[in-house]
Amino acid sequence: MQEHQIKNEKGDLIDIKSHLFQFAILSDNSQNLTVMKAAQVGLSTIEILKTIYDAKRYQMDIIYTLPTDGDVNVFVGGKVNRIIAQNPILLEYTKDKDSIEQKQVGNSMIYFRGTWTKKAAIMVTADRVTHDEKDSSKQDVINEYQARTQHSKYKQKHTFSHPSAEGTGVHVEWLLSDQKHWFIKCSHCEKKQYLSWHLNDKSKMSIDLDKQIYVCKSCGEEIYDEDRRNGEWVAKYKNREYSGYWVSLLMCPWVSAKEILKKFNDPNTSEEFFFNKVLGLPYRGKGNKLSQQGLMQNVSIVMSTPTSEERAILGIDTGLKLDYVFGAPKKGLSYAGEAKDYDELDKIMEKWPKCIAVVDGGGDLIGSRKFKEKWQGRVFLGFFTGDKKGTDESMWNMEEKTVSIDRNKYIQIVVDEFMDKRIPLQGTESDWYDYWLDWNNLTRTKIVDPITGEFKGNKWIRSGRDHKALATVLWRVGVGKFGEVGEIFASQDVLNFPRGIDLRPNMTTRAPDPKSLFKINQPNEDDWRN
Ligand SMILES: [Zn+2]
Repeated sequence: MQEHQIKNEKGDLIDIKSHLFQFAILSDNSQNLTVMKAAQVGLSTIEILKTIYDAKRYQMDIIYTLPTDGDVNVFVGGKVNRIIAQNPILLEYTKDKDSIEQKQVGNSMIYFRGTWTKKAAIMVTADRVTHDEKDSSKQDVINEYQARTQHSKYKQKHTFSHPSAEGTGVHVEWLLSDQKHWFIKCSHCEKKQYLSWHLNDKSKMSIDLDKQIYVCKSCGEEIYDEDRRNGEWVAKYKNREYSGYWVSLLMCPWVSAKEILKKFNDPNTSEEFFFNKVLGLPYRGKGNKLSQQGLMQNVSIVMSTPTSEERAILGIDTGLKLDYVFGAPKKGLSYAGEAKDYDELDKIMEKWPKCIAVVDGGGDLIGSRKFKEKWQGRVFLGFFTGDKKGTDESMWNMEEKTVSIDRNKYIQIVVDEFMDKRIPLQGTESDWYDYWLDWNNLTRTKIVDPITGEFKGNKWIRSGRDHKALATVLWRVGVGKFGEVGEIFASQDVLNFPRGIDLRPNMTTRAPDPKSLFKINQPNEDDWRN
């Protein structure tokens, strides 16, 4: 790196001394790598250099994903190409200089792809798949990319992202990793420690709120920028599947304690934003419930019922009544209703001859089969199953006209898409209020191994009727198969952080002061080096 005098995209020489924590990541050649990071920690240059160098050095083909095609344009056009242009050695390596979607480096290829705008993973094979901004990417498309490395001798997987909720996105790999923390040494008491945030416990708080400086968690004296710069990565666990790094803004020597506090005190900073983008930690409050606001932000009063020539999807949960949702993939949900019997549903199938129905096959055993017989080839029975390791994909049997659906993973997918404002709901808020009540009866909980305490995954627990939520899951599974997903689920303001104030299930608002909420979620890992 230094011998070639590598420069960033602005043409400035990359200074190893002030970016020590980054260079360990650059030279890490582990099979699987994950970086759970805050925003603006200056790692994207490192990611680009790593991708180009490794493609050249190990002669590996690399698929590099970003959330959207727009992100790919900005990233490759604005960053990758400029870094290459600033560095003669990289210019020598790369051909295809004008292509946004792929670059040839020596004998290897790097493919850049968005996840939201493509229905499926590209069919090329690779030795490594790198997911940048994994938590803002489309998770089922990301999972499809897993299969792209199966014929490689390397089969590498790298993820870089700010975290979102616990147990999703980059936090999944973090939990499987050796969990490296950046340890620094107090120059007063020589105590080694990592920088952390806790408002009510001084032994876990690295910032003095009054003096606005970094302080030692042991002796309380000042921690200098030089101390923060000269740290070392220490792994919490040995022999894990992933080499993992947690990068917070606190450990960036160029970010002062004052700046951290300014972000914290900013009334526009939600606690979620502070956790994800400043501390680089997952936020427990998000994604474990579909809040009323999270759902209602999707309501669009522009009514747009599918035309009779259009492909529409019907998701039906069967029980005492038939709860169903209906809508064209491109237009989101037009209607959520309850039917006493199948007559109402027959009418929909008649009126929309291209409509496909996905019916819960485990509830009303007789009626659902009759309905399937009546509308030959247009009705699929959906069966909810438990966790299947390694896949989010619904398993279709086109012979039998059945589909098995991982219940917990698919509920999460739909909740995340609503939270990201990707599924339009046609009508008014009051039209969708009863619908929301069904979602409100679902809460995500953690499954923890009772003996080892190890995190095993998430489960959505139901506390009342959830039929319309499950009907929506069935609808969504049908859209994934029969619709061009990219077209509806591609709203622009996905990355709009921070989000506003959530409503509690009992309709009260919680206090807008982010500080009042910090008690519920602290970076509470003990210093295991004690
Ligand atoms: Zn000290």
